[in-house]
Amino acid sequence: LTFASAFSDRTPRSRELFERAKLTIPGGAGSTARLPRNGWNPYPLFMEQGLGSRITDVDGNEYVDYLLGLGPDILGHRHPVVTEAVTRAITEHGTSFGLPYELEIEASEKVVATVPGVEQVRFANSGSEAVGQAVRIARATTGRRIIVRFEGLYHGWQDSVYWSNHVDLDQAGPADRPRPVAMGLGVPAELGETLVVLTWNDAESFVRLMEERGEEVAAVITEPAVLNTGCILPEPGYLELLRSETRKYGAMLIFDEVITGFRIARGGAHEYYGVIPDLTTYAKGIGGGFPVAAIGGTKEAMRLIADGTYSHSGTYNANVVQCAAVSATMDLLAEPGLYERQRALGDRLARGLESIANDNGIDAYVTGLGTVFQLWFADGPIKNWRDAVAHTREGVFTRWYEEMIVRGVLFHPLQFENLFVSLVHDDRDIDDTLEAASGAMRVLAR
Ligand code: PLP
Repeated sequence: LTFASAFSDRTPRSRELFERAKLTIPGGAGSTARLPRNGWNPYPLFMEQGLGSRITDVDGNEYVDYLLGLGPDILGHRHPVVTEAVTRAITEHGTSFGLPYELEIEASEKVVATVPGVEQVRFANSGSEAVGQAVRIARATTGRRIIVRFEGLYHGWQDSVYWSNHVDLDQAGPADRPRPVAMGLGVPAELGETLVVLTWNDAESFVRLMEERGEEVAAVITEPAVLNTGCILPEPGYLELLRSETRKYGAMLIFDEVITGFRIARGGAHEYYGVIPDLTTYAKGIGGGFPVAAIGGTKEAMRLIADGTYSHSGTYNANVVQCAAVSATMDLLAEPGLYERQRALGDRLARGLESIANDNGIDAYVTGLGTVFQLWFADGPIKNWRDAVAHTREGVFTRWYEEMIVRGVLFHPLQFENLFVSLVHDDRDIDDTLEAASGAMRVLAR
């Protein structure tokens, strides 16, 4: 049986809904990331409901879920405490006031108490929005123009940073001086002049750039670990170097913790790596599955927002759904031992997948941070995007995804994405997944 026929036998209703959706929704889904051209072949699954670590599609197929909404469902689907808190808040108070209210203070106090380097926080609606603001705050604060970003990282869809993620290698210039390449249509080319794009994990090119142009740099923005090219961890000392060099030249350091925040540790990269940036952007995990984002920073970095010179505005900023979700989520994350337990669980899964692959004679290895990792089908070490392009075999990953989805395990179909483990996945989920993986890898090995 080919994958296409096995998949369509299992999912007739999804196929039908996709055809219907295309009539009134461009492309047939609410985000281009959900379309066949982004890996969801031959059509995206349409989902019915999720509960905890499991999700069920409209044909009644249940999956152990490692997609987790692309990251937000850090507490699994429909966590009863968060759902209850949001329902109660909107029932008792309302949804948006265009004015402040007490629950907003509570949510901000809890975020500040959770993350070591965040002294103040403003809530927003999406990661892209938070990043767009952080970049502009850095330009406003420093009076400088240049943003340094790295190849293969994703910082959302704002024009200012929608560059050099998974673009054509032929256009990207040499590794020691990459050229900014817009990620898609509609971005003014001249914005490329406001960016310097570098190879990640390469201390030498970063130090050289700062020597040459450090005084022009408003901010350096990075994910603390690259989770938008599979999973790539920082070399020892690299994040510390970004911190010390930005400080030396009076530039701001922005950590984009949209994925790592509240995931790799309760206090995200601040806690896990012990490096404190000036500004940090959050989304995904911060709301326990509800749509909310945040810009956190030191009081010094938030100074222009605080005194009103810099306008960070938005009708939906800090609405009741967001603040209730953040507040309840922060409470749940404080459970003693939670992160240690779930990181160990994620590691058991990761090591298990790696050894099942290797036992079947397949070249594969895992890099990860416990509750987020990727299984690289690769024949060499990966320190940055160019290594990933050179060493991975996307075709093998696609086969792996296909064999797993028909066995009831859901994760993103692309090698350059990753697997998320929630704080409510348990040993049974891992057992089921490893059993499915044994069957899948045997097929791959043929
Ligand atoms: N930053 C990072 C690191 C991300 O992974 C993403 C989304 O995947 C974003 C920013 C953009 O967030 P959003 O999709 O909420 O706009």
